[in-house]
Amino acid sequence: MSTLEIRDLQVSIDTDQGTKEILKGVDLTINEGEIHAIMGPNGSGKSTLAYTIAGHPRYNVTGGSITLDGEDVLSMSVDERARAGMFLAMQYPVEIPGVTVSNFLRTAKTAIDGEAPALRGWVKDLRQSMADLKMDSSFAERNVNEGFSGGEKKRHEIMQLELLKPKFAVLDETDSGLDVDALKIVSEGVNRAKAATGLGVLLITHYTRILRYIKPDFVHVFVAGKVAEQGGPELAERLENEGYDRYVQAAAAGN
Ligand code: ADP
Ligand code: MG
Ligand code: MG
Repeated sequence: MSTLEIRDLQVSIDTDQGTKEILKGVDLTINEGEIHAIMGPNGSGKSTLAYTIAGHPRYNVTGGSITLDGEDVLSMSVDERARAGMFLAMQYPVEIPGVTVSNFLRTAKTAIDGEAPALRGWVKDLRQSMADLKMDSSFAERNVNEGFSGGEKKRHEIMQLELLKPKFAVLDETDSGLDVDALKIVSEGVNRAKAATGLGVLLITHYTRILRYIKPDFVHVFVAGKVAEQGGPELAERLENEGYDRYVQAAAAGN
């Protein structure tokens, strides 16, 4: 069984005002097939956690560790992380002018598997994924993220998830800006990937809405750069009713 382990992770960034400490000792263990929701207020460091797992150069790890089945993720390049089975869906995905969705996905698949996928099976998988996500087939020939609506960007990310078959996915506010129909389609895609390949998911979200469609096994309340509380799905319901105030005040009092 695959395990992604984050231990006492501390991360800072360099700003014009000097070094800013953002993550202050994050502990998380995600096993294959588990869905962990990370919920917290704006500015608590959720995206920082996602970018650090992905290997964004802006974020400096000053302490702690991230391992995937015992392998040191922090010493891997971004490419090596992807090949090891990590996937990050960013809150703000970038445009790639001149590269079509179809070419992008095939290139990524080839890079991750170490060989090009057999053409016939690949075309079939690509079509199936687009049909599952209720996307028009012309979508494959558009340039990545160029002029994509919010919903199209998210569907494209879920296509990546289904076709690249990572072991662990970090989904950073995949729900933001989606209407209910798109949210359902995207959620079904995540659930399919979990059922098909035992995907483990770190689902970062500000709102409980997406958790109606993607059922978390564990919920972590994230405040001021660390996990303030963890529990099961019932914790998400409590947050829905009570909000984050209690945790924010407790964190401020502790500082
Ligand atoms: P969240 O995703 O929970 O909203 P972020 O990780 O985006 O939180 O941000 C955490 C804190 O770190 C915020 O105070 C934010 O302003 C700061 N921060 C994150 N990235 C940067 C950056 N590249 N430059 C300056 N400040 C940053
Ligand atoms: Mg934010
Ligand atoms: Mg964020």
